[in-house]
Amino acid sequence: MSLFAAVEMAPRDPILGLNEQFNADTNPAKVNLGVGVYYDDKGKLPLLRCVAEAEALMQAAAKPRGYLPIDGIAAYDKAVQGLVFGADSAVLAEGRVATVQALGGTGGLKIGADFLKRLNPNAQVLISDPSWENHRALFTNAGFAVATYPYYDAAQRGINFEAMLAALQAAAAGTIVVLHACCHNPTGYDLSPAQWSQVVDTVKARGLVAFLDMAYQGFGEGIAEDGAVIQQCLAAGLDFFVSTSFSKSFSLYGERVGALSVVCGSSAEAGKVLSQLKIVIRTNYSNPPTHGAQVVAHVLSTPALRAMWEEELAGMRVRIREMRQALVAELKAAGVSQDLSFVTRQKGMFSYSGLSAAQMQRLRSEFGVYGVDSGRICVAALNSRNLKSVAAAMAAVIK
Ligand code: PMP
Repeated sequence: MSLFAAVEMAPRDPILGLNEQFNADTNPAKVNLGVGVYYDDKGKLPLLRCVAEAEALMQAAAKPRGYLPIDGIAAYDKAVQGLVFGADSAVLAEGRVATVQALGGTGGLKIGADFLKRLNPNAQVLISDPSWENHRALFTNAGFAVATYPYYDAAQRGINFEAMLAALQAAAAGTIVVLHACCHNPTGYDLSPAQWSQVVDTVKARGLVAFLDMAYQGFGEGIAEDGAVIQQCLAAGLDFFVSTSFSKSFSLYGERVGALSVVCGSSAEAGKVLSQLKIVIRTNYSNPPTHGAQVVAHVLSTPALRAMWEEELAGMRVRIREMRQALVAELKAAGVSQDLSFVTRQKGMFSYSGLSAAQMQRLRSEFGVYGVDSGRICVAALNSRNLKSVAAAMAAVIK
């Protein structure tokens, strides 16, 4: 009998499955709104100018490729800290943050999850309902029991904040709460600063562990605005976790550039935490790759390139916002009478469109418009060329 005879076929990743279906579709007007990737108005994945310029400079002074330290490039970790916490932040001056380079935002979450499992093996993990689909799988695979807190309210087209807060208030001390710092995936609905303040107060009062997933900083309202919850956590004196991803904000998806930061009570604690994070990394993949982190460190720490990045990021943010407004206008023009203004209240790359699974399936089979059955569409894949046809298709299935 073969060693692998008992191996079962794992379920397909739903979004990758959707991509395969899209690629096989012969409809020339097909549009892929399934994946979480930002495309420019020409429908192309951008290569940011700040990235190209940093790469040209790096190429001109090409260096040999030795191993990186286990926690990554020091200048990168420092640049991440400046971006996430504010370069002048007291918590950095006090040396209370342990930051490690990670393989994308996913890698940051996984290092944090593995460390937390050693720290508090019996803790429960709470994720939002719904959440990025990998949150549940990642924390489950790290050995945790994962449950949800209420989040999306379909009837209100928003967040069921009362229920969310009640769930957090009822959580046992030590419960790990995964929070989307901004641009909630998949719904697009973010908490207001006043709501964040109540969440932070509850996390503190109940002794919960906040794990902020920041995969879209700069895609919502702006770099500082999107990171505002971090400042609230600092002001409350919490010990907390932040995973960072530059996949979207630098359009560096395939370079796997991310980080994990752990805010501790003292620099001595941060030193010990860092030593444990390094063990997690060492025993998984030894040390991270060089290129993407070097690009990001270079851009963030070179004023001219940093200014260019902020401008390019703002360009992506504004284009997404324009697409939201244009989609609502086109749907109205196509005769949809219901109030769709919620699409412009949502933030980031995604919109919970409110369409049912049956409507999403009709969009695919009749119009070649591919979104997720949950109703999630990637607004960042809309452009001036496909907008009208997408709106017409959506109007046809809504009416
Ligand atoms: N968290 C959320 C909420 C995400 O949407 C994503 C990416 N889609 C990630 C984490 C992972 O980011 P990365 O691709 O950098 O691993």
